[in-house]
Amino acid sequence: MRLSTIDKLCCPFDKADLQLQVIAKDLEENIIEGILTCKTCQRYYPIVKGVPIMSPDEYREVKLEQPMLENWQQHLQGKQADQFRLLADE
Ligand SMILES: [Zn+2]
Repeated sequence: MRLSTIDKLCCPFDKADLQLQVIAKDLEENIIEGILTCKTCQRYYPIVKGVPIMSPDEYREVKLEQPMLENWQQHLQGKQADQFRLLADE
């Protein structure tokens, strides 16, 4: 996933801009792992193996995403991590 492509993505729910946190890039600067966060609705969208996961809520599996977020904990600022937990508790 290229940065220029990610720039064009917006939140599918409210069309707000997404904030990107890059976790891993390849040698060509493609984003392999990262987290997109919507400041408006506080949803997050993980990028896994270069693919942003932007499924509707009902198709999201928090239990599947949780271990990944724990691996990424060191990359998350505390504030964002709290938001993720709030989302996971819903
Ligand atoms: Zn949103």
